[in-house]
Parts: sequence; C-alpha cells; structure tokens
Amino acid sequence: MALARKIVPRKELEQLGVYSPGKPIEEVQKELGLTSVIKMASNENPFGYSPKAKEAMIKEMEKVNLYPETMAPALAAKLADKFGISKDSFLFGNGSDEIIAFLTRAYIRPGDSAIMADITFPRYETNVLIQGGNPVKVPLQQGTHDLDGMLKEINGKTRMIFVCNPNNPTGTIVEKENLLTFIKQVPSDILIVMDEAYYEYALSNEYLQTIPLLKEHPNLVILRTFSKAYGLAALRIGYGIMDKEVVNELIKVKDPFNTDRIAQAAALASLNDNEFLQLCVARNREGMNYIEGELEKLGLSSFPSEANFLMIHLGRSGKEVFEQLLRKGIIVRSGHVLGYPDSIRVTIGNESENLEFVKALREVMAEK
Ligand SMILES: *Cc1c(COP(=O)(O)O)cnc(C)c1O
Repeated sequence: MALARKIVPRKELEQLGVYSPGKPIEEVQKELGLTSVIKMASNENPFGYSPKAKEAMIKEMEKVNLYPETMAPALAAKLADKFGISKDSFLFGNGSDEIIAFLTRAYIRPGDSAIMADITFPRYETNVLIQGGNPVKVPLQQGTHDLDGMLKEINGKTRMIFVCNPNNPTGTIVEKENLLTFIKQVPSDILIVMDEAYYEYALSNEYLQTIPLLKEHPNLVILRTFSKAYGLAALRIGYGIMDKEVVNELIKVKDPFNTDRIAQAAALASLNDNEFLQLCVARNREGMNYIEGELEKLGLSSFPSEANFLMIHLGRSGKEVFEQLLRKGIIVRSGHVLGYPDSIRVTIGNESENLEFVKALREVMAEK
C-alpha cells in the first residue's frame, strides 16, 4: 500500500486564521426567532446607495457578456478630473482590500517588514504574513496612531508603513501637522500606505488632504473605496492613488479583469450624485452626535470618531453586551475580536436604528 502523503500548504499560512465576519441578518433572525434584526456591525451605509448607480447598473447589465475594461478608464478619467491629477495615478481593485494585496505582493519579500498600528485594520497584517514578511506593530495611544513610535521602528528591512486614517476600529484620525511631519520624515524608498476608506465621513479641520502631497512624495499610496459612504460594498470596488511607476508595478500582479462592468458603471454614476453622498455624510454625523450624547447620559465614552462607527467603552465585557444586544435583535461588533475586550464597535445607523440601539443599550446596561 502506498504511503498516504499529506498536501502541505506554504509555511506562511500556518500562522493565519480565517476571517470571521459580522453575523448575517438572516442567521440571527432564524437562530433567535426574531422578526426584525438590524445590523450595525460592518460599517455599511444604512441609507443604501445612489439611485443613479442603480440606473447605471441596469443599463450595464446588457453588456455582461463582454469582459470589463481592465483599468476602468472612464472611472479613472472621472476621478482624475475630480481631483485634478493624472488618470495614470489610479488603480482599481476588487475592493480596496485587493489593492493592499497587490502592494504586499509587489513589494514584500520574505523577511521584509511592514510597520502598522496595533490595533488597526487586520488585512495589512494578513497580507504581509502571506508574503512571508514581518508585521511590526506599534501600539495606539488613546486609540490613535503613534506616528513617532512608528518612525522609530524604521530600519533596513522596512518596505512599507500603513496608516489607517480614520483608523478602523477606533474611528480616530491623526492630526494634520503630525501626519505631514511624518510623511516628510519617512525615507523615500519606503511606501507610505494611507488607507482612507472613511475619507468622505471625515469632516474635522485636523484631517489632512493627502492627494496634493503625491507630487512631492512619490512613495505615497492613498486607498479609497466605494464600499462605505457610497454604499456599494457588495460590488467590491475601491482604488489606490499613487505614482504611475507604482501603478505599473501593481498592474503586473493584478488579474486583468479584477473589477467588473457593473461595479465600474455604478461607481462612475455614484460620483455624479454628490447630493446623495452629502446626505449620507450629514445624516451619519447627526446620528453619531445623537449616540454620543446618549452615551454621555449613560456615563459611557467612546473614542472621538471621524468615521461612520464608534468604539464604545463599557467598563464590562463587550462580548456579553454584544450577546445581550443580539438577543434584542441588534448586531454590533464585539470588541473582544477587535482587541478591545471591554468595548463594542457600533456602525452609525439610520435614525430609527440609532434610536433602537440606544434603547437596547440602555436596557442592557441597566440589567447589570
Ligand atoms: C472597509 C475597509 C476597507 C476595504 O473596503 P473594500 O470593501 O475592500 O473597499 C479598507 N480599509 C479599511 C480600514 C476598511 O474599514
């Protein structure tokens, strides 16, 4: 009898877990026998998406027998015009998640390192590990990136630095002057990856506009997405803005048809509906202010957020509160999976969802 041989995966995969997403609405509903369940867990847009995008998608459906454009030229031209930069500065991904994978694929060699915050968006670490690189994690200070601490970690192995601004899962931004000084101090052969997935929601005067810095800092890569404020999460389309030499390297590791026709058409149409975007941004801020005010009444606090979610500190197990809220039909994200065991992360909902959430949280916090 032949010896049974095991199929051995790459060593790098041994240290990787499997992503555990927020619970889907349907599953919670069935498990708990609830009639209505609201999801405030994945930073999705509670107001849907632009009707113009819907129209564009329906029209584009006629062409799904044809492969999509590989570089989304219409979308690139539109964004180039909007930002006043060259259309060669854009690369589109199946979500901005995919751009992170392109960056690590193209630039991280085994043994290289990438600096990132501890705690931040987990895809940075995962993608660096997949390439056999070493994530170097610098603790947040009061929920905010410690840029000086990150600079101190730079050495000959450093290939890229991730800055998530606003940071997921804390919602905080780094102050304008600090970030500018940081960008100037990072050596020009190290990529600075600015993840701006929540860009549209950030209204603070302290939020740095990074696109004007691209000219002087060709090591800067800015990530944006249509998944959050534009409400197109399921279509999987995001992009990077960067020097065209970096674009040319990333193209080499990209599947030719990585973003589909319907997504490209919807994204383009979304950019023509500033009214919808501004409405979502304004409502988000109103909802966030409302929840923050109610938290104060409950004696609870959260990190100052410029995004569409709040990390709320409970002074007791976030997992327990998550489970109690779940029983009341509200899905949030438990802090224990995000590195804050005494907290929950809540996505700002629409008006009625925010009311329901506050009511349920008040009840849960009174129970114990
Ligand atoms: C949601 C999110 C993304 C990615 O979103 P895509 O849907 O892949 O575009 C990237 N970075 C952060 C910090 C996010 O929260």
